[in-house]
Amino acid sequence: MNASLTLTLALVVALLAHVALKFWLNARQVRHVAGHRSAVPAAYAQTVSLTDHQKAADYTLAKARLSQIDIAIDAAVLLGWTLLGGLDALNQVLLTWMGPGMAQQIALVLGFTLVGGVIGLPLSLMQTFGVEQRFGFNKMTMGLWLADLAKGLVLGLAIGGPIAALILWLMGAAGPAWWLWAWGSWMGFNLLLLVVYPTFIAPMFNKFQPLQDEALAARVTALMKRCGFSAKGLFVMDGSRRSAHANAYFTGFGAAKRVVFYDTLLARLTPGEVDAVLAHELGHFKHKHIVKRVGAMFAMSLAGFALLGWLSTQVWFYTGLGVRPSLTGANDALALLLFMLAVPVFSFFIGPLFAALSRKHEFEADAYAKAQTSGADLGSALLKLYEDNASTLTPDPVFVRFYYSHPPASERLARLEGL
Ligand SMILES: [Zn+2]
Repeated sequence: MNASLTLTLALVVALLAHVALKFWLNARQVRHVAGHRSAVPAAYAQTVSLTDHQKAADYTLAKARLSQIDIAIDAAVLLGWTLLGGLDALNQVLLTWMGPGMAQQIALVLGFTLVGGVIGLPLSLMQTFGVEQRFGFNKMTMGLWLADLAKGLVLGLAIGGPIAALILWLMGAAGPAWWLWAWGSWMGFNLLLLVVYPTFIAPMFNKFQPLQDEALAARVTALMKRCGFSAKGLFVMDGSRRSAHANAYFTGFGAAKRVVFYDTLLARLTPGEVDAVLAHELGHFKHKHIVKRVGAMFAMSLAGFALLGWLSTQVWFYTGLGVRPSLTGANDALALLLFMLAVPVFSFFIGPLFAALSRKHEFEADAYAKAQTSGADLGSALLKLYEDNASTLTPDPVFVRFYYSHPPASERLARLEGL
């Protein structure tokens, strides 16, 4: 059997396994949550109302139903682009119009991205104005949603366009080790985004105001000092403009951090609870989780670019995925797009590994927060946040192992009590 046919078969088998596994996990989650809907688990009988518990169950079930559609669409889109010839057709049409060259390659990437974006729109609308709306989380108007979409499109073109063009240019001009240069550029670009995002991009979508509450500001500053950080600014973000979900985060390099609270978080938590949530976030920095995550991303993308560097020179890589490569001109855009389409099908199976690592980090940050503030405050804050986000207290254990980047409330609270 030749390499091209082997790749086609591998893709089909992996895709079938991937889709079957996702449907099975979803079905497990639905069965488990629905099965526990009628009563609040004994451990929370005092703290969680039946209404809240059932809202969380219904929200989880609604998201699971939407996710069924998402899984099916994703698989169909992947097959459509690859084995059914979508990408090949788009490529041939553009070749006829524009002839080979850099402009055609950029047009291919652009066309692919736009088609993908349009296919994703109905589901995104259903999520925001269907599920989120029904459960009272959505605060967006259609106007704001459209404005976000337009801003996202312009930003995507302004930021994604040049980096895509740079990588395509390196693929053609930098010789056999182009992937090393491309990797370096990609990493530089990501680091730049980390710096640019909080100061330039985030303010395009939200308003940031200095924290007015002086007592809380003094508390937070004292906590940060105790933990060895300094606040470069305390801000409140108008998260309530879009969603009722609450959050807090830090940005910035080194020991000086810009702290951002969602207004939704401040409205809901006591000062002690805010402290505990912040201490949890500081715990991620103290345990170097962020550095580890960025380091892992660097290493994985290096492996990815090396693999792409090799695959892009193999004819079977194109033909096996339903595309006729040009035997004389450049196939760089094709290689890039096929790689982005095919890799997630195979990498899905190592997802649980990363989810497990992330959950371990959450436990470590919780332990840090308990040591620096109060376990009781963190516990009650977590319960409020899980409740407000309608996170189910009774997820399916296997579903959790696969997908959850944060441990379910029951596990976190039990662990906190045991510390
Ligand atoms: Zn965390």
